Amino acid sequence: MNATLSAAIQGVANLAEAKSTSLGQRMPSIFVGHGSPMNAVASNEFTRRLKKWGDDIGRPTAILVISAHWLTQNEIKVAVQAHPKTIHDFGGFPQSLFDMQYPAPGAPAIAQLATCALTAQGAKPSQDWGLDHGAWTVLHHMYPKADIPVFQVSIDYAKGGDYHLAVGKALSALRDKGVLILASGNVVHNLGGLDTGSPDGLVASRPWAQSFDHAVKNALVSNNTKGLANYLTLGAGARMAVPSPDHYWPLLYALGAARDGESATFVYEGFQLGTLSMRCVQWG
Ligand code: ZN
Repeated sequence: MNATLSAAIQGVANLAEAKSTSLGQRMPSIFVGHGSPMNAVASNEFTRRLKKWGDDIGRPTAILVISAHWLTQNEIKVAVQAHPKTIHDFGGFPQSLFDMQYPAPGAPAIAQLATCALTAQGAKPSQDWGLDHGAWTVLHHMYPKADIPVFQVSIDYAKGGDYHLAVGKALSALRDKGVLILASGNVVHNLGGLDTGSPDGLVASRPWAQSFDHAVKNALVSNNTKGLANYLTLGAGARMAVPSPDHYWPLLYALGAARDGESATFVYEGFQLGTLSMRCVQWG
């Protein structure tokens, strides 16, 4: 074991002691469909489920977020700030959304562990991020006190599905140190295909959205990892449902961090704005 890794592990132990958390209690790996940033200020079936989900999971040592909104090219960055800033990475929304802050502390020691876990991928510690809205609009409901350390790991957007699965797998061991792995995106995400007048509900307003969301669910149930990594093979709706994979790739991180024998549980299913799948999944 090298000195950096040893120091990082000691740092995690110190952190757990300081926070009176139970280091070693395995935390789940989860995927959250985050949808519109407006969910941050909304109270609806989805946000109420997020609140209950946080209660059900309990208090992790730290939260590692992989968000659709932190994409890098040919590299992986790990945010190591002690005090990550709240990033308002959107436009055209009410001032109330821009006024929101999620002042959770960072997790520099655990982020260092994550960097070590991704040595093979050449991951680098970074100071140039914070918490984007894929993280804080969800965490605001799940852990409203903002008192659990949070850090993000970027998505190398130059890579394909198998790579993202492998990164998730490499991060999986952190779960045994009480770290909740939270991947945030949307199974179906086509902003040009939204039906803004459509009410929230279980049924999508467009067949391509419904069929692809259903195909992904079936693939998760049947453990069709190969199909999930190559999502264009999952049916005719794939190209419309996933016009670009930024919001789909996070699902593969959560799946990759699942252990053998852990099956997918669907914590929330349904659509907002007609075609936006809000599907949420938990392993472990
Ligand atoms: Zn998003």
